[in-house]
Amino acid sequence: MKLLVSPECRLFPLLGLVALLLSGCAAAGSSRSIYEGRPEKAPNILFIFTDDHASHAIGAYGSRFPADITPNLDQLAADGMMFRRCGVTNSICAPSRAVILTGKHSHLNGVPTNAERFDGAQMTFPKILQGAGYQTAIFGKWHLKSEPTGFDHYERLLGQGPYYNPRMRSPADNEQGFVDRQHPGYTTDIITDLALDWLKDGRDQDQPFMMMVQHKAPHRHWQPPPRHLAYLDDVDIEEPANLFDDYSGRGTAARVQDMEIATTLTKNDLKLVPQRGLDESQTALWNAAYDPKNRTMKQLLRNSDEDELTRWKYQRYLKDYLRCIKAVDENIGRMMATLDELDLSRETVVIYSSDQGFFLGEHGWFDKRFMYEECYKTPLIVRWPGVIHAGSVDENLVSNLDYAQTFLDLARVPSTHTSIEAMQGLSLVPLMMGRKPADWRESLYYQYYEYLGDQRTAHMVRRHRGVCTQRYKLIHFYNLDEWELYDLQEDPTEMNNLADDPDHGEIRNELAQELERLALQYKVPDDRGSVPYDPHGLIEALGTQSSQ
Ligand code: CA
Repeated sequence: MKLLVSPECRLFPLLGLVALLLSGCAAAGSSRSIYEGRPEKAPNILFIFTDDHASHAIGAYGSRFPADITPNLDQLAADGMMFRRCGVTNSICAPSRAVILTGKHSHLNGVPTNAERFDGAQMTFPKILQGAGYQTAIFGKWHLKSEPTGFDHYERLLGQGPYYNPRMRSPADNEQGFVDRQHPGYTTDIITDLALDWLKDGRDQDQPFMMMVQHKAPHRHWQPPPRHLAYLDDVDIEEPANLFDDYSGRGTAARVQDMEIATTLTKNDLKLVPQRGLDESQTALWNAAYDPKNRTMKQLLRNSDEDELTRWKYQRYLKDYLRCIKAVDENIGRMMATLDELDLSRETVVIYSSDQGFFLGEHGWFDKRFMYEECYKTPLIVRWPGVIHAGSVDENLVSNLDYAQTFLDLARVPSTHTSIEAMQGLSLVPLMMGRKPADWRESLYYQYYEYLGDQRTAHMVRRHRGVCTQRYKLIHFYNLDEWELYDLQEDPTEMNNLADDPDHGEIRNELAQELERLALQYKVPDDRGSVPYDPHGLIEALGTQSSQ
Protein backbone atom coordinates (compact mmCIF):
# COMPACT_ATOMS: atom_id res chain seq x y z
CA MET A 1 0.00 0.00 0.00
CA LYS A 2 1.59 3.27 -1.11
CA LEU A 3 0.32 6.40 0.59
CA LEU A 4 1.56 9.92 0.26
CA VAL A 5 0.71 11.17 3.73
CA SER A 6 3.00 10.91 6.76
CA PRO A 7 3.02 7.64 8.70
CA GLU A 8 1.16 9.28 11.55
CA CYS A 9 -1.74 10.19 9.32
CA ARG A 10 -1.93 7.22 6.98
CA LEU A 11 -4.77 5.46 8.68
CA PHE A 12 -7.22 8.23 8.31
CA PRO A 13 -9.39 8.84 5.29
CA LEU A 14 -9.41 12.40 3.96
CA LEU A 15 -12.76 13.16 5.52
CA GLY A 16 -11.31 12.58 8.95
CA LEU A 17 -8.17 14.56 8.30
CA VAL A 18 -9.44 17.86 9.65
CA ALA A 19 -10.43 16.31 12.94
CA LEU A 20 -7.11 14.53 13.04
CA LEU A 21 -5.12 17.72 12.48
CA LEU A 22 -6.82 19.16 15.51
CA SER A 23 -5.78 16.21 17.63
CA GLY A 24 -3.11 13.52 17.11
CA CYS A 25 -0.94 14.73 14.22
CA ALA A 26 -1.17 18.37 15.18
CA ALA A 27 -0.13 17.51 18.72
CA ALA A 28 3.44 16.82 17.61
CA GLY A 29 5.74 19.29 19.26
CA SER A 30 3.26 20.16 21.99
CA SER A 31 2.62 17.96 25.03
CA ARG A 32 3.89 14.56 23.87
CA SER A 33 1.31 11.84 24.45
CA ILE A 34 2.29 8.19 24.73
CA TYR A 35 -0.23 7.66 21.94
CA GLU A 36 1.37 10.17 19.62
CA GLY A 37 1.87 8.68 16.19
CA ARG A 38 -0.86 6.14 16.74
CA PRO A 39 -4.31 6.25 15.18
CA GLU A 40 -6.94 7.89 17.30
CA LYS A 41 -9.08 4.80 17.32
CA ALA A 42 -7.70 1.68 19.01
CA PRO A 43 -7.11 -0.94 16.30
CA ASN A 44 -8.56 -4.39 15.86
CA ILE A 45 -6.08 -7.13 16.70
CA LEU A 46 -5.71 -10.28 14.62
CA PHE A 47 -3.32 -12.76 16.20
CA ILE A 48 -2.42 -15.66 13.91
CA PHE A 49 -0.59 -18.35 15.82
CA THR A 50 0.87 -21.68 14.78
CA ASP A 51 2.26 -24.63 16.68
CA ASP A 52 5.97 -25.47 16.28
CA HIS A 53 6.67 -23.16 13.36
CA ALA A 54 10.39 -22.37 13.44
CA SER A 55 11.36 -18.93 12.17
CA HIS A 56 14.04 -20.53 10.01
CA ALA A 57 11.20 -22.09 8.00
CA ILE A 58 9.95 -18.63 6.97
CA GLY A 59 11.50 -17.11 3.86
CA ALA A 60 11.68 -13.61 5.33
CA TYR A 61 13.81 -14.84 8.24
CA GLY A 62 16.37 -16.34 5.89
CA SER A 63 15.49 -19.95 5.30
CA ARG A 64 17.48 -22.73 3.65
CA PHE A 65 14.26 -24.12 2.21
CA PRO A 66 12.63 -23.46 -1.19
CA ALA A 67 11.53 -19.85 -1.61
CA ASP A 68 7.88 -20.43 -2.51
CA ILE A 69 6.72 -21.92 0.81
CA THR A 70 5.74 -18.77 2.72
CA PRO A 71 4.94 -15.96 0.21
CA ASN A 72 2.14 -14.55 2.35
CA LEU A 73 4.19 -14.50 5.55
CA ASP A 74 7.06 -12.95 3.61
CA GLN A 75 4.67 -10.27 2.37
CA LEU A 76 3.44 -9.66 5.92
CA ALA A 77 7.06 -9.10 6.99
CA ALA A 78 7.65 -6.82 3.98
CA ASP A 79 4.61 -4.75 4.98
CA GLY A 80 5.43 -4.72 8.69
CA MET A 81 8.09 -5.47 11.28
CA MET A 82 9.97 -8.69 11.82
CA PHE A 83 11.35 -9.36 15.31
CA ARG A 84 14.53 -11.41 14.99
CA ARG A 85 15.20 -12.02 18.68
CA CYS A 86 11.91 -13.22 20.10
CA GLY A 87 12.59 -15.90 22.70
CA VAL A 88 10.03 -17.98 24.55
CA THR A 89 10.02 -18.45 28.32
CA ASN A 90 9.48 -22.24 28.17
CA SER A 91 9.70 -23.96 24.79
CA ILE A 92 6.64 -26.20 24.76
CA CYS A 93 3.03 -25.93 23.61
CA ALA A 94 0.59 -25.47 26.53
CA PRO A 95 3.03 -23.48 28.72
CA SER A 96 3.63 -20.99 25.89
CA ARG A 97 -0.13 -20.48 25.50
CA ALA A 98 -0.56 -19.90 29.23
CA VAL A 99 2.29 -17.35 29.23
CA ILE A 100 0.68 -15.49 26.35
CA LEU A 101 -2.75 -15.35 28.00
CA THR A 102 -1.47 -14.23 31.40
CA GLY A 103 1.75 -12.30 30.70
CA LYS A 104 3.32 -14.32 33.51
CA HIS A 105 6.04 -16.97 33.65
CA SER A 106 5.06 -20.65 33.98
CA HIS A 107 5.62 -20.89 37.74
CA LEU A 108 2.95 -18.20 38.28
CA ASN A 109 0.33 -19.17 35.67
CA GLY A 110 0.04 -22.78 36.81
CA VAL A 111 1.09 -24.43 33.52
CA PRO A 112 4.79 -25.33 33.68
CA THR A 113 4.30 -28.47 31.51
CA ASN A 114 1.74 -29.90 29.07
CA ALA A 115 0.13 -31.85 31.91
CA GLU A 116 -1.58 -29.10 33.94
CA ARG A 117 -5.08 -27.74 33.53
CA PHE A 118 -5.14 -23.97 32.97
CA ASP A 119 -7.08 -22.19 35.70
CA GLY A 120 -9.48 -20.08 33.69
CA ALA A 121 -10.46 -18.05 36.77
CA GLN A 122 -7.13 -16.21 36.70
CA MET A 123 -6.71 -12.85 35.00
CA THR A 124 -5.91 -12.97 31.29
CA PHE A 125 -5.54 -10.30 28.65
CA PRO A 126 -8.78 -11.26 26.79
CA LYS A 127 -10.77 -10.52 29.95
CA ILE A 128 -9.16 -7.11 30.26
CA LEU A 129 -9.83 -6.44 26.57
CA GLN A 130 -13.49 -7.32 27.06
CA GLY A 131 -13.59 -4.77 29.87
CA ALA A 132 -12.11 -2.24 27.46
CA GLY A 133 -14.94 -2.77 24.96
CA TYR A 134 -13.31 -5.34 22.70
CA GLN A 135 -15.04 -8.39 21.30
CA THR A 136 -12.79 -11.37 21.76
CA ALA A 137 -12.80 -14.66 19.89
CA ILE A 138 -10.50 -17.63 19.47
CA PHE A 139 -10.48 -20.29 16.75
CA GLY A 140 -8.40 -23.44 16.57
CA LYS A 141 -5.95 -24.99 18.98
CA TRP A 142 -6.46 -24.12 22.64
CA HIS A 143 -4.68 -27.03 24.34
CA LEU A 144 -5.16 -25.88 27.93
CA LYS A 145 -7.65 -28.55 29.10
CA SER A 146 -10.12 -26.13 30.75
CA GLU A 147 -12.74 -24.28 28.67
CA PRO A 148 -11.64 -20.87 27.36
CA THR A 149 -12.66 -17.89 29.49
CA GLY A 150 -12.62 -14.24 28.48
CA PHE A 151 -13.87 -14.93 24.95
CA ASP A 152 -17.19 -13.81 23.48
CA HIS A 153 -16.92 -16.69 21.06
CA TYR A 154 -14.69 -19.69 20.49
CA GLU A 155 -14.41 -22.72 18.26
CA ARG A 156 -11.65 -24.86 19.62
CA LEU A 157 -10.00 -28.16 18.80
CA LEU A 158 -10.30 -30.84 21.44
CA GLY A 159 -6.85 -31.45 22.93
CA GLN A 160 -4.12 -31.50 20.29
CA GLY A 161 -6.69 -31.88 17.53
CA PRO A 162 -6.20 -33.84 14.30
CA TYR A 163 -5.10 -32.59 10.87
CA TYR A 164 -8.20 -33.99 9.18
CA ASN A 165 -11.93 -33.81 9.99
CA PRO A 166 -11.62 -32.22 13.45
CA ARG A 167 -14.23 -32.16 16.18
CA MET A 168 -14.45 -28.64 17.51
CA ARG A 169 -16.11 -27.25 20.60
CA SER A 170 -18.01 -23.97 20.88
CA PRO A 171 -20.06 -22.39 23.68
CA ALA A 172 -23.77 -23.32 23.74
CA ASP A 173 -26.80 -22.51 25.79
CA ASN A 174 -27.26 -26.04 27.14
CA GLU A 175 -26.57 -27.93 30.33
CA GLN A 176 -22.94 -28.57 29.45
CA GLY A 177 -22.35 -25.03 28.26
CA PHE A 178 -20.78 -26.19 25.00
CA VAL A 179 -21.41 -28.24 21.90
CA ASP A 180 -19.01 -30.37 19.81
CA ARG A 181 -19.28 -30.51 16.04
CA GLN A 182 -17.36 -32.54 13.49
CA HIS A 183 -16.05 -30.56 10.52
CA PRO A 184 -15.14 -32.49 7.38
CA GLY A 185 -11.98 -31.31 5.65
CA TYR A 186 -8.47 -30.12 6.45
CA THR A 187 -8.07 -28.53 9.86
CA THR A 188 -5.94 -25.54 8.79
CA ASP A 189 -8.58 -24.60 6.20
CA ILE A 190 -11.46 -25.21 8.62
CA ILE A 191 -10.02 -23.04 11.38
CA THR A 192 -9.63 -20.24 8.84
CA ASP A 193 -13.17 -20.75 7.49
CA LEU A 194 -14.65 -20.47 10.98
CA ALA A 195 -12.60 -17.38 11.79
CA LEU A 196 -13.57 -15.69 8.52
CA ASP A 197 -17.26 -16.52 9.06
CA TRP A 198 -17.11 -14.77 12.43
CA LEU A 199 -15.23 -11.83 10.98
CA LYS A 200 -17.82 -11.38 8.23
CA ASP A 201 -21.07 -12.20 9.99
CA GLY A 202 -20.53 -13.28 13.59
CA ARG A 203 -19.25 -10.20 15.36
CA ASP A 204 -20.80 -6.89 16.35
CA GLN A 205 -19.38 -4.50 13.78
CA ASP A 206 -19.60 -1.53 16.16
CA GLN A 207 -16.96 -2.89 18.51
CA PRO A 208 -13.24 -3.42 17.92
CA PHE A 209 -12.20 -7.07 17.93
CA MET A 210 -9.37 -9.25 19.13
CA MET A 211 -9.35 -12.48 17.16
CA MET A 212 -6.91 -15.33 17.82
CA VAL A 213 -6.56 -17.82 14.96
CA GLN A 214 -4.51 -20.71 16.28
CA HIS A 215 -3.49 -23.52 13.98
CA LYS A 216 -2.55 -27.05 14.91
CA ALA A 217 -0.08 -27.04 12.04
CA PRO A 218 2.82 -27.64 11.68
CA HIS A 219 2.79 -29.82 14.85
CA ARG A 220 3.78 -33.48 14.72
CA HIS A 221 2.66 -35.75 12.90
CA TRP A 222 2.88 -33.29 10.01
CA GLN A 223 -0.01 -34.43 7.82
CA PRO A 224 -0.26 -32.20 4.74
CA PRO A 225 -3.53 -31.35 2.97
CA PRO A 226 -4.57 -33.45 -0.04
CA ARG A 227 -3.61 -30.61 -2.40
CA HIS A 228 0.02 -30.67 -1.22
CA LEU A 229 0.76 -34.37 -0.87
CA ALA A 230 3.14 -34.23 -3.85
CA TYR A 231 4.48 -30.72 -3.24
CA LEU A 232 8.32 -30.76 -2.98
CA ASP A 233 8.46 -34.34 -4.32
CA ASP A 234 11.10 -33.35 -6.86
CA VAL A 235 13.18 -31.23 -4.49
CA ASP A 236 16.09 -32.20 -2.26
CA ILE A 237 15.74 -30.33 1.01
CA GLU A 238 19.08 -28.91 2.13
CA GLU A 239 20.49 -30.53 5.25
CA PRO A 240 21.81 -28.53 8.19
CA ALA A 241 25.58 -28.81 8.70
CA ASN A 242 25.02 -30.47 12.09
CA LEU A 243 22.51 -33.15 11.04
CA PHE A 244 25.02 -35.73 12.24
CA ASP A 245 26.02 -33.90 15.42
CA ASP A 246 27.86 -36.25 17.82
CA TYR A 247 27.31 -33.84 20.77
CA SER A 248 31.02 -33.85 21.57
CA GLY A 249 30.96 -30.11 22.31
CA ARG A 250 27.96 -30.33 24.64
CA GLY A 251 26.93 -31.77 28.00
CA THR A 252 24.95 -34.78 29.15
CA ALA A 253 21.47 -33.45 28.37
CA ALA A 254 22.15 -33.39 24.63
CA ARG A 255 23.22 -37.04 24.78
CA VAL A 256 20.29 -38.45 26.74
CA GLN A 257 17.42 -36.76 24.87
CA ASP A 258 14.96 -38.80 22.84
CA MET A 259 14.21 -36.63 19.81
CA GLU A 260 16.55 -37.77 17.10
CA ILE A 261 15.49 -38.07 13.50
CA ALA A 262 17.61 -41.21 13.26
CA THR A 263 16.06 -43.08 16.19
CA THR A 264 12.92 -41.42 17.59
CA LEU A 265 10.70 -40.84 14.56
CA THR A 266 8.01 -43.52 14.29
CA LYS A 267 6.61 -45.26 11.24
CA ASN A 268 3.53 -43.10 11.73
CA ASP A 269 5.65 -39.93 11.73
CA LEU A 270 7.30 -41.16 8.54
CA LYS A 271 3.94 -42.06 6.91
CA LEU A 272 4.97 -45.68 6.45
CA VAL A 273 1.74 -46.98 7.99
CA PRO A 274 -1.93 -46.15 7.21
CA GLN A 275 -2.88 -42.74 8.56
CA ARG A 276 -5.68 -42.46 11.10
CA GLY A 277 -8.53 -39.96 10.96
CA LEU A 278 -8.88 -39.69 7.17
CA ASP A 279 -12.16 -40.48 5.41
CA GLU A 280 -12.38 -42.81 2.43
CA SER A 281 -11.69 -40.25 -0.28
CA GLN A 282 -8.91 -38.60 1.72
CA THR A 283 -7.33 -42.01 2.27
CA ALA A 284 -7.49 -42.76 -1.45
CA LEU A 285 -5.71 -39.49 -2.27
CA TRP A 286 -3.19 -40.11 0.48
CA ASN A 287 -2.37 -43.63 -0.67
CA ALA A 288 -2.07 -42.57 -4.29
CA ALA A 289 0.52 -40.00 -3.24
CA TYR A 290 2.49 -41.92 -0.59
CA ASP A 291 2.36 -45.57 -1.72
CA PRO A 292 4.80 -45.13 -4.64
CA LYS A 293 7.14 -43.02 -2.49
CA ASN A 294 6.98 -45.59 0.29
CA ARG A 295 7.82 -48.47 -2.05
CA THR A 296 11.06 -46.71 -3.01
CA MET A 297 11.70 -45.97 0.62
CA LYS A 298 11.13 -49.52 1.86
CA GLN A 299 13.63 -50.74 -0.71
CA LEU A 300 16.06 -48.14 0.59
CA LEU A 301 15.39 -49.30 4.14
CA ARG A 302 16.60 -52.79 3.33
CA ASN A 303 19.73 -51.67 1.49
CA SER A 304 20.83 -48.52 3.24
CA ASP A 305 23.41 -47.80 5.82
CA GLU A 306 22.35 -45.88 8.89
CA ASP A 307 23.34 -42.41 7.63
CA GLU A 308 21.55 -42.89 4.34
CA LEU A 309 18.45 -43.87 6.22
CA THR A 310 18.68 -40.80 8.48
CA ARG A 311 18.98 -38.65 5.37
CA TRP A 312 15.86 -40.23 3.93
CA LYS A 313 13.96 -39.71 7.18
CA TYR A 314 15.10 -36.09 7.23
CA GLN A 315 13.72 -35.55 3.73
CA ARG A 316 10.39 -37.18 4.58
CA TYR A 317 10.03 -35.25 7.85
CA LEU A 318 10.98 -31.86 6.39
CA LYS A 319 8.84 -32.20 3.28
CA ASP A 320 5.74 -33.05 5.30
CA TYR A 321 6.49 -30.25 7.77
CA LEU A 322 6.92 -27.73 4.96
CA ARG A 323 3.79 -28.98 3.16
CA CYS A 324 1.79 -28.24 6.33
CA ILE A 325 3.31 -24.76 6.46
CA LYS A 326 2.43 -24.17 2.82
CA ALA A 327 -1.23 -24.66 3.80
CA VAL A 328 -0.87 -22.31 6.77
CA ASP A 329 0.62 -19.67 4.50
CA GLU A 330 -2.17 -20.01 1.94
CA ASN A 331 -4.72 -19.53 4.69
CA ILE A 332 -2.90 -16.44 5.93
CA GLY A 333 -3.23 -15.15 2.37
CA ARG A 334 -6.99 -15.81 2.54
CA MET A 335 -7.23 -13.92 5.81
CA MET A 336 -5.33 -10.91 4.49
CA ALA A 337 -7.52 -10.86 1.35
CA THR A 338 -10.66 -10.93 3.51
CA LEU A 339 -9.39 -8.06 5.67
CA ASP A 340 -8.95 -6.10 2.43
CA GLU A 341 -12.42 -7.08 1.16
CA LEU A 342 -14.03 -5.98 4.42
CA ASP A 343 -11.99 -2.76 4.38
CA LEU A 344 -10.46 -3.71 7.73
CA SER A 345 -6.75 -3.86 6.85
CA ARG A 346 -5.96 -0.25 7.72
CA GLU A 347 -7.50 -0.50 11.18
CA THR A 348 -6.27 -3.97 12.12
CA VAL A 349 -2.91 -4.92 13.61
CA VAL A 350 -1.95 -8.37 12.33
CA ILE A 351 0.47 -10.37 14.46
CA TYR A 352 1.98 -13.67 13.42
CA SER A 353 3.78 -15.95 15.86
CA SER A 354 4.20 -19.56 16.95
CA ASP A 355 4.17 -21.12 20.41
CA GLN A 356 7.88 -21.78 19.96
CA GLY A 357 10.37 -22.76 17.27
CA PHE A 358 11.43 -26.27 16.30
CA PHE A 359 14.48 -28.30 15.36
CA LEU A 360 14.46 -29.00 11.65
CA GLY A 361 17.28 -31.51 11.64
CA GLU A 362 19.75 -29.28 13.49
CA HIS A 363 21.73 -31.40 16.00
CA GLY A 364 20.02 -34.39 14.34
CA TRP A 365 16.75 -33.46 16.05
CA PHE A 366 13.08 -32.70 15.61
CA ASP A 367 10.92 -31.26 18.45
CA LYS A 368 11.75 -28.39 20.83
CA ARG A 369 12.16 -27.93 24.68
CA PHE A 370 15.88 -27.05 24.78
CA MET A 371 16.94 -23.45 25.19
CA TYR A 372 18.87 -23.74 21.93
CA GLU A 373 18.27 -21.16 19.25
CA GLU A 374 16.18 -23.18 16.78
CA CYS A 375 13.32 -23.76 19.23
CA TYR A 376 14.06 -21.05 21.78
CA LYS A 377 13.39 -18.36 19.21
CA THR A 378 9.93 -18.00 17.76
CA PRO A 379 8.75 -16.00 14.76
CA LEU A 380 7.11 -12.66 15.45
CA ILE A 381 5.88 -10.51 12.58
CA VAL A 382 3.61 -7.49 13.07
CA ARG A 383 1.80 -5.47 10.41
CA TRP A 384 0.32 -2.18 11.53
CA PRO A 385 -0.41 -0.02 8.50
CA GLY A 386 0.43 3.62 8.93
CA VAL A 387 2.37 3.09 12.15
CA ILE A 388 5.01 0.42 11.59
CA HIS A 389 7.36 1.27 8.76
CA ALA A 390 7.14 -1.37 6.07
CA GLY A 391 10.04 -3.81 5.97
CA SER A 392 11.46 -2.93 9.38
CA VAL A 393 13.47 -5.40 11.43
CA ASP A 394 13.84 -5.34 15.21
CA GLU A 395 16.85 -6.98 16.90
CA ASN A 396 15.93 -6.27 20.53
CA LEU A 397 15.35 -9.03 23.06
CA VAL A 398 11.61 -9.68 23.17
CA SER A 399 9.52 -12.62 24.33
CA ASN A 400 6.12 -14.29 24.26
CA LEU A 401 5.92 -12.95 27.84
CA ASP A 402 5.37 -9.53 26.21
CA TYR A 403 2.38 -10.37 24.03
CA ALA A 404 -0.38 -9.77 26.62
CA GLN A 405 0.88 -6.31 27.52
CA THR A 406 1.41 -5.51 23.85
CA PHE A 407 -2.18 -6.39 22.96
CA LEU A 408 -3.46 -4.32 25.90
CA ASP A 409 -1.28 -1.37 24.94
CA LEU A 410 -2.58 -1.59 21.36
CA ALA A 411 -6.09 -1.39 22.86
CA ARG A 412 -4.99 1.63 24.90
CA VAL A 413 -5.62 0.01 28.26
CA PRO A 414 -3.44 2.03 30.67
CA SER A 415 -0.42 0.11 31.97
CA THR A 416 -1.37 1.26 35.47
CA HIS A 417 -4.32 -1.19 35.39
CA THR A 418 -3.76 -3.38 38.48
CA SER A 419 -3.88 -6.64 36.51
CA ILE A 420 -1.35 -5.34 34.01
CA GLU A 421 1.00 -4.27 36.76
CA ALA A 422 1.00 -7.90 37.94
CA MET A 423 2.17 -9.05 34.50
CA GLN A 424 5.88 -9.68 33.87
CA GLY A 425 6.46 -8.64 30.28
CA LEU A 426 6.85 -5.37 28.41
CA SER A 427 4.70 -3.78 25.74
CA LEU A 428 6.34 -4.06 22.32
CA VAL A 429 4.42 -1.07 20.96
CA PRO A 430 7.31 1.39 21.52
CA LEU A 431 9.62 -0.92 19.53
CA MET A 432 7.02 -1.17 16.77
CA MET A 433 7.01 2.62 16.58
CA GLY A 434 10.81 2.82 16.47
CA ARG A 435 10.98 4.34 19.95
CA LYS A 436 13.09 1.90 21.93
CA PRO A 437 12.96 2.81 25.62
CA ALA A 438 16.41 3.63 27.00
CA ASP A 439 15.99 1.02 29.72
CA TRP A 440 14.90 -1.84 27.45
CA ARG A 441 15.86 -5.26 28.87
CA GLU A 442 19.29 -6.70 28.15
CA SER A 443 18.54 -10.31 29.05
CA LEU A 444 15.76 -12.91 28.95
CA TYR A 445 14.95 -15.66 31.47
CA TYR A 446 14.10 -19.23 30.44
CA GLN A 447 12.99 -22.33 32.32
CA TYR A 448 11.92 -25.75 31.04
CA TYR A 449 10.19 -28.13 33.49
CA GLU A 450 8.79 -31.11 31.62
CA TYR A 451 11.09 -33.88 32.77
CA LEU A 452 9.57 -36.21 35.33
CA GLY A 453 11.72 -38.39 37.49
CA ASP A 454 9.20 -41.12 38.20
CA GLN A 455 8.30 -41.97 34.59
CA ARG A 456 9.59 -41.54 31.08
CA THR A 457 8.71 -38.12 29.70
CA ALA A 458 8.18 -37.23 26.06
CA HIS A 459 11.62 -36.65 24.48
CA MET A 460 13.48 -36.86 27.78
CA VAL A 461 14.87 -33.33 27.77
CA ARG A 462 16.28 -32.51 31.20
CA ARG A 463 15.03 -29.57 33.23
CA HIS A 464 17.01 -26.40 32.76
CA ARG A 465 16.96 -22.69 33.17
CA GLY A 466 19.00 -20.06 31.45
CA VAL A 467 19.67 -16.48 30.53
CA CYS A 468 20.10 -15.07 27.04
CA THR A 469 21.69 -11.73 26.17
CA GLN A 470 22.34 -10.16 22.77
CA ARG A 471 25.56 -12.15 22.47
CA TYR A 472 25.66 -14.97 25.03
CA LYS A 473 23.53 -17.71 26.48
CA LEU A 474 24.12 -19.48 29.79
CA ILE A 475 22.14 -22.63 30.55
CA HIS A 476 22.04 -24.59 33.81
CA PHE A 477 20.76 -28.18 33.69
CA TYR A 478 20.18 -28.02 37.39
CA ASN A 479 19.32 -31.64 38.17
CA LEU A 480 22.60 -32.58 36.49
CA ASP A 481 24.40 -29.52 37.83
CA GLU A 482 25.91 -28.95 34.39
CA TRP A 483 26.41 -25.55 32.80
CA GLU A 484 26.55 -24.59 29.15
CA LEU A 485 27.72 -21.27 27.78
CA TYR A 486 27.49 -20.25 24.13
CA ASP A 487 28.84 -17.27 22.24
CA LEU A 488 26.02 -16.75 19.75
CA GLN A 489 28.11 -14.38 17.67
CA GLU A 490 30.98 -16.82 17.14
CA ASP A 491 28.97 -20.03 17.38
CA PRO A 492 25.37 -19.38 16.25
CA THR A 493 24.56 -23.10 16.00
CA GLU A 494 25.68 -23.70 19.61
CA MET A 495 28.13 -26.51 18.96
CA ASN A 496 30.81 -25.45 21.43
CA ASN A 497 30.06 -25.20 25.15
CA LEU A 498 32.37 -22.58 26.69
CA ALA A 499 31.26 -22.97 30.31
CA ASP A 500 34.60 -24.41 31.39
CA ASP A 501 36.74 -22.27 29.11
CA PRO A 502 39.00 -20.10 31.37
CA ASP A 503 38.86 -17.23 28.87
CA HIS A 504 35.12 -17.07 29.40
CA GLY A 505 35.17 -17.34 33.20
CA GLU A 506 34.29 -13.71 33.72
CA ILE A 507 31.37 -13.68 31.31
CA ARG A 508 30.11 -16.93 32.83
CA ASN A 509 30.14 -15.36 36.30
CA GLU A 510 28.36 -12.26 35.07
CA LEU A 511 25.68 -14.32 33.36
CA ALA A 512 25.23 -16.56 36.41
CA GLN A 513 24.61 -13.42 38.48
CA GLU A 514 22.18 -12.12 35.89
CA LEU A 515 20.33 -15.45 35.96
CA GLU A 516 19.93 -15.14 39.75
CA ARG A 517 18.83 -11.54 39.44
CA LEU A 518 16.13 -12.49 36.92
CA ALA A 519 14.97 -15.46 39.03
CA LEU A 520 14.55 -13.09 41.95
CA GLN A 521 12.80 -10.45 39.83
CA TYR A 522 10.32 -13.01 38.46
CA LYS A 523 9.91 -14.74 41.84
CA VAL A 524 10.97 -18.15 40.52
CA PRO A 525 10.98 -20.92 43.17
CA ASP A 526 13.99 -23.18 43.60
CA ASP A 527 13.42 -26.31 41.47
CA ARG A 528 16.85 -27.90 41.94
CA GLY A 529 15.63 -30.82 44.05
CA SER A 530 12.79 -31.71 41.68
CA VAL A 531 14.30 -34.72 39.90
CA PRO A 532 17.18 -37.07 40.82
CA TYR A 533 20.42 -36.98 38.85
CA ASP A 534 19.82 -40.09 36.75
CA PRO A 535 16.35 -41.53 37.47
CA HIS A 536 16.26 -43.71 34.36
CA GLY A 537 19.86 -44.88 34.34
CA LEU A 538 20.49 -43.23 30.98
CA ILE A 539 23.61 -41.40 32.08
CA GLU A 540 25.02 -44.54 33.63
CA ALA A 541 24.36 -46.35 30.34
CA LEU A 542 26.28 -43.62 28.48
CA GLY A 543 29.23 -44.19 30.75
CA THR A 544 29.10 -47.91 30.05
CA GLN A 545 28.98 -47.23 26.30
CA SER A 546 31.90 -44.82 26.29
CA SER A 547 34.10 -47.17 28.32
CA GLN A 548 33.52 -50.01 25.89
CA1 CA B 1 4.27 -26.21 20.10
